[in-house]
Amino acid sequence: MGNKNLKYCRICYSKKLVRYLNLGKHPFSNSFLKYNEIKKEKKFPLVVVLCKNCGLSQLSIIPNTKFIFSRYDYLSSSSKALSNHYRKLVNKLLEKYKILPKDTVLDIGCNDGVLLQHYPKNFTNIIGIEPSDASKHIKQKRIKLLNKFFNYKTSKEYLKKFRKPKVVTITNVLAQISDLNQFTKSLQNLISKETLIALEFPYLPYMIEKGLFDLIYHEHLSYFSLTPLKFLFKKFGIKIINFEKINFGASGPALRLFLSKENSKHRISKKVIKQIKYEKKWGINKIKKYKLFDKNTNAKISKIKKIVYKKYLQGFKIGCFTASAKGNTLLNSLNLKKNVIEFASENNIKKIDKYTPGTHIKIVSDENFLKKKIDYAILLSWNYKKFFLSKSLFKKKGGKFIIPLPKPYIK
Ligand SMILES: [Zn+2]
Repeated sequence: MGNKNLKYCRICYSKKLVRYLNLGKHPFSNSFLKYNEIKKEKKFPLVVVLCKNCGLSQLSIIPNTKFIFSRYDYLSSSSKALSNHYRKLVNKLLEKYKILPKDTVLDIGCNDGVLLQHYPKNFTNIIGIEPSDASKHIKQKRIKLLNKFFNYKTSKEYLKKFRKPKVVTITNVLAQISDLNQFTKSLQNLISKETLIALEFPYLPYMIEKGLFDLIYHEHLSYFSLTPLKFLFKKFGIKIINFEKINFGASGPALRLFLSKENSKHRISKKVIKQIKYEKKWGINKIKKYKLFDKNTNAKISKIKKIVYKKYLQGFKIGCFTASAKGNTLLNSLNLKKNVIEFASENNIKKIDKYTPGTHIKIVSDENFLKKKIDYAILLSWNYKKFFLSKSLFKKKGGKFIIPLPKPYIK
């Protein structure tokens, strides 16, 4: 399988790595299993370390990403809420940054085109880069695809085929990049002074403050804040010009950064400088807050477990709602007895009829889930709770959700 231990920080190459959270051994959380694959399943340590030099949190191992992505069952468009989120981002880019139909737009890690599809119909220079076979599900013919990992070679190939982009979007991707320096170098290679980059990622201080340990899984190699990213981008002549907090991202609360070349016309917003000061005060490269997170995580796991067992022992039927990657960290951390959770509900066709990694819960369609007469369902995609609480048939037909995070409760 070829997992190696991490010896140097992914950004600054320092060896000052300190462990702060150990979730035990987990399987890759996006590797949903067919029945005959259950026996062969492998697990790997899920441990987070802090680089005390630059403040980057990262996994203690370098998982074999080829293995992860060859089995990637995540289709972004299967989430309507996520698609809506990206529609708003595209509209914002068009309005605030005056992107025109003739401009070239690029999405790195475009998955099934969930973001790119929202550019207006008169946009024709739309390019996506995506290594996984999620790209086979791109529906719009106008989207031109480079079916490759994004690296320096791919950036050169891009330049041979297309014009330098006016906009580059990188959402929910950066955490999956093992060689962040090569990634940024490649990005630097294909942008111009006119290029605006929009980058979204879960924000580490939120994760720590709110105890969102389910963001941690093998596909997420790094956990970002502004401080280490500023250092990384500066190495390659890129500056952070602005950012905004977004309550909703592909995996929960996130930060959206706007970047450009250092010599672009954009000025660095005061907001950016302020936030970096905040991070310093918060202790981004000090171990204290992280140790507290470790303690809180264990307490939270016990609390969720208690709620589930209480309902189970009262004779209720328990299920889980959505078979998300983050949900698998949560399910595996709960370490429940077998068969406590009967079924998982999911509408991504690539996951239906498979089994959840590690916990081996059978995944059924939303429609079939309703037939199973489940009383309580753990809402694994709790970041979409607004949507599920108001829209799901399960809830409308009397089912109750166990919302596990940030604070566990039943609704
Ligand atoms: Zn570092």
